[in-house]
Amino acid sequence: MIPLSLPHINGNEWKYVKDCLDTGWVSSAGAYVSRFEQDLAKFSGAKYGVAAVNGTCGLHLTLHMLGINQEDHIIVPNITFIASANAAVYTNATPIFIDVDVDTWQMDLDLLEEFLVNQTKQIDGRCFLSSTNKCIKAIMPVHVLGNMCDMERLMEIANTHNIYVVEDASESLGSYWKGQHSGTFGIMGVFSFNGNKIITTGGGGVIVTNDEQHAKRAKHLSTQSKVNPETYYHDEIGFNYRLVNVLAAIGVAQMEQLPGFISKKKEIDAFYRKELNGVGDIKFQKVVDEVDPNCWLFTFYTSKQAEVLAKLKENKIIARPFWTPMNQLPMFTEELYIHKTDNSKDIHANCLSIPSSVNITQADLEAVVACIKSCY
Ligand SMILES: *Cc1c(COP(=O)(O)O)cnc(C)c1O
Repeated sequence: MIPLSLPHINGNEWKYVKDCLDTGWVSSAGAYVSRFEQDLAKFSGAKYGVAAVNGTCGLHLTLHMLGINQEDHIIVPNITFIASANAAVYTNATPIFIDVDVDTWQMDLDLLEEFLVNQTKQIDGRCFLSSTNKCIKAIMPVHVLGNMCDMERLMEIANTHNIYVVEDASESLGSYWKGQHSGTFGIMGVFSFNGNKIITTGGGGVIVTNDEQHAKRAKHLSTQSKVNPETYYHDEIGFNYRLVNVLAAIGVAQMEQLPGFISKKKEIDAFYRKELNGVGDIKFQKVVDEVDPNCWLFTFYTSKQAEVLAKLKENKIIARPFWTPMNQLPMFTEELYIHKTDNSKDIHANCLSIPSSVNITQADLEAVVACIKSCY
């Protein structure tokens, strides 16, 4: 079997976890949690990092902190993992889905801008959707597969219309736009350390921000808003969202290996692009020059998605079609979906992610390529 994207546990993970177990610091207080937060802040160039139990809860917390509620809309790309849209719904806001660019598979900024210009109005320095009179409070770009949209332009659009940007940077640890790390453009950004991400803590997330108040409040809210640990005085409704020390210990060890992981992902990406170039109607995700991507999970476009998938399965090679677009899910069919040609539908129906584990062998990479080539 050749898996899709396995964790690579090959550094100080055992040592640091043993340290937690030996010292009894297993829970949400402990030195590894703050060390992991600092590691993420340092790596991404953000001022602050705040750990969370997973990326989804991290996203929820960021939106909650911005005061988003049932009177609000949040803009999300139509192609994303459902966590982005769920985070919006947890705050009772209504998502608005924007179709993705046909080549980069990221939120289509032309569509976004046209929508904001034509269908919203400004009242007291806030952006309202004309048809619902609800406030569009945040745009959540998702750096799908570690690629990025034009973040300078997105920030310009958001600033023009007075909308916050919260980045779902779950898949883009190690990805940069013109040298600036993903997750650091908006008011807050969130990384995920789920089992299949470029580094993992089993489950985990970190919110990054340059805003001290948001960083403090995120930590406060994620620890049940406890002001005084002796009297159990809490000053608002909080959450039990803080990452535990045992998992943060794994994260610290993983961060030590991250530069090596990124190089390996780039090698895998380069190999697939070279070997699959010109094979049948295969097309690759476009990555513009301004982006330095982490190449997290190799994904390509082909009209033979079903045949290739079946063939790979027959050869015990794990591959996966892209996520079902948000507008096609039963919970979201009523929501506004801004599109012209419905690129999401086409990308979902034709894209395939293939094995990209950091520890994949050259023989396995060649087996994957040979199997795909045999379909054309
Ligand atoms: C992984 C992921 C998340 C967060 O997932 P968690 O499992 O909660 O950490 C959010 N958005 C996207 C796009 C993801 O890929």
